[in-house]
Amino acid sequence: MIENKKILVIGAGLSGISVATHLIKNKVSVTLVDNGINFSSRIAAGMINPLVFRRMTKSWRVDEFIPFLKTFYSSLEKTTNASFLFGVPIRRLFSSEQERDFWLEKEKRADFELYMHKVTKADMHYPGAKNPFGSARLKETYFIEVNSFLTNTKQWIKTQGEIIHEQFDYNSLVENTYKGVLYDEIVFCLGYLNKECPLFGELPLDQTKGQTLTIKSLTLPENLSLNRKCFMLPKGNQTFKIGSTYEWNDPSTHVTVEAKNELLENLSYIIDETVEVLDQEAGIRPTTRDRRPLIGTHHKHKNYHIVNGLGAKGYMLAPLVSKEFVNYLLKGDKLDPEVDINRYYRKNNP
Ligand SMILES: Cc1cc2nc3c(=O)[nH]c(=O)nc-3n(C[C@H](O)[C@H](O)[C@H](O)COP(=O)(O)OP(=O)(O)OC[C@H]3O[C@@H](n4cnc5c(N)ncnc54)[C@H](O)[C@@H]3O)c2cc1C
Repeated sequence: MIENKKILVIGAGLSGISVATHLIKNKVSVTLVDNGINFSSRIAAGMINPLVFRRMTKSWRVDEFIPFLKTFYSSLEKTTNASFLFGVPIRRLFSSEQERDFWLEKEKRADFELYMHKVTKADMHYPGAKNPFGSARLKETYFIEVNSFLTNTKQWIKTQGEIIHEQFDYNSLVENTYKGVLYDEIVFCLGYLNKECPLFGELPLDQTKGQTLTIKSLTLPENLSLNRKCFMLPKGNQTFKIGSTYEWNDPSTHVTVEAKNELLENLSYIIDETVEVLDQEAGIRPTTRDRRPLIGTHHKHKNYHIVNGLGAKGYMLAPLVSKEFVNYLLKGDKLDPEVDINRYYRKNNP
């Protein structure tokens, strides 16, 4: 039965591509519609960091996400004959004594062993950057080379199904038929542009702007990512990506001088050098107040679905949450209540 299904996915960012990939692997016929305007998946640094530094906690469901994403991206690398998953050591430069104490407490715990190296004397005096409170090294840290991932997976999807480059026209959607073609299911993966969707636009998805810089530095180390106030990711030839801002009041995709200054100021907590700014980019994260994705089925139209709200850690979450969505769609598995959009429908229609 599954093999005869025909599914329309709208949006070829990280969420749409992940959903389409799992569908194709289940032998479903997929048509992907995308307008080519991507200001999130393409702008992202693609960092995968298992910890939340504020209180040194583990990221939500990280014990499941990390092993799954490694299998997902490396299997796609083989399928597409491309490289996009890379390991990168991350060193946290502690921002206070309290933060260092949180780390020292957690590093003793068995459930953190997978993600934390024990702090050594050398970590307390790391010579590669400013670290008045010492530093520590994480384990299980990666980055996705996002352009390679997006380009190569889209090319592969094209060989397995269809990609239509256009603005989705809601007026051409009548029940399950889009522009005269009948689909079994329709999945909206619109990222921050979900607000414009007449079907799911009412869901509380915030647009959280983020800006990054590409800089040239003569002093930053090129073999690891440093993190304090901002992250820096080495990109080769003494160039580095620095990010990211969090801006809640400006849904535009323009870069701003304020953000550039903020990022350079944050970088000054890591090095004293006056760096050369080579580029600046802006994008919008699709975020939710409870920091959980928005996944599920429309409360009235049972063949219309949404996968969205991947937030600031999309590259970590997308592989598994999209797989769980596809299992829900094709096999009737239950959705994790934490991601299910019913949490909002229930609240508004008690
Ligand atoms: C500055 C910045 C840095 C980030 N850094 C990281 C990071 O280091 N690590 C990490 O894991 N995550 C990071 N993220 C978050 C990550 O980028 C997002 O979680 C993820 O990209 C969201 O993917 P998406 O597919 O939901 O949205 P999108 O990437 O926005 O994809 C949606 C797609 O749908 C298309 N679309 C929308 N409406 C229509 C329509 N009507 N018709 C046709 N097509 C349509 C859009 O053009 C787009 O291509 C960052 C984000 C930003 C902005």
